[in-house]
Amino acid sequence: MDPIRIAIVGLGKIARDQHIPAIRGNGNFDIAATVSPHSPPMEGIPQFASIEELLEKGPAVDAVALCTPPQVRYDIAVSALKAGMHVFLEKPPGATLAEVEALKDRADKVGVTLFASWHSRFAAGVAPARAWLAERTVKSAKIIWREDVREWHPGQEWIWQPGGLGVFDPGINALSIITHILPRPMFLKDATLSLPANRAAPIAADIDFQDTAGAPIHMDLDWRQTGPQSWDIIVDTDAGELKLSSGGAVLSLPSGTERNEDLEYAGLYARFANLVRGGRSDVDVAPMRLVADAFLRGKRATVEEFHD
Ligand code: NAP
Repeated sequence: MDPIRIAIVGLGKIARDQHIPAIRGNGNFDIAATVSPHSPPMEGIPQFASIEELLEKGPAVDAVALCTPPQVRYDIAVSALKAGMHVFLEKPPGATLAEVEALKDRADKVGVTLFASWHSRFAAGVAPARAWLAERTVKSAKIIWREDVREWHPGQEWIWQPGGLGVFDPGINALSIITHILPRPMFLKDATLSLPANRAAPIAADIDFQDTAGAPIHMDLDWRQTGPQSWDIIVDTDAGELKLSSGGAVLSLPSGTERNEDLEYAGLYARFANLVRGGRSDVDVAPMRLVADAFLRGKRATVEEFHD
């Protein structure tokens, strides 16, 4: 089978840290081009300043991986879909729910693949956690996602702007895991979003969810954590406690603890290749809907200014 010729759009942190090695490690893909307005190019790979320039002057491309901030993704995805390309969307898949649904309709009409990726769902502990919980009754759950924004997002202005999600940029990863492992759907009951006086997006959030059987699920999100960082989900069940820590990499069950190799992006590209070869799309907006509901229903509290 011919390799899928892919262009990476948005040569920033995640493209360099994860997409390039994962694509290079998967024989289904060849990196044909990159698109980025300012970043230095990859050695030996032609680079273009915009998707339009790629379409006009670039080599033939079958697929694009959109690694830009979410606010600019829709227009780029439309150009790629119009040109008949398969589209891989980094998380979150867009800046609004309706635009992601419009992309899905467009991809279906064109007959190409749209993949709304959730990398945390491919963390090593997530599939076994989902299998274990399928057989249990969930009594309650807690999400504790506390990290230092200065360490993880230095200088990323887009993340603080409308559509950038603020602390929900990492928080949506936790929601992508919990919506995947819990046996029942969940919905938001109450939320408080803490916004720095000088920023348009929250730096912290305290949220109460509930599953459809009434089990309470609490989420504690905070970007002001210094020292040890927490990316933990704890689920209390009729058969004891399940804990996913390190963002889903480590799974602790009453029978013991397992830590496996990090293969999140390798898993994403294996899935994308499968979807393209099989002529299917995968667009689950459940994590994004919960974030949208937090912005719709949440109370706002103003907290002290944040400076990098
Ligand atoms: P980033 O370092 O700020 O990189 C974003 C890149 O997008 C920039 O290098 C910029 O390119 C490019 N870009 C902006 N507008 C563009 C446009 N119109 N066309 C083409 N390229 C454009 O951000 P990031 O951390 O990689 O995050 C990007 C996405 O990945 C976000 O949705 C984020 O949630 C997700 N993500 C990030 C991480 C992480 O650890 N950082 C982990 C998982 C997922 P120029 O530099 O050339 O201007």
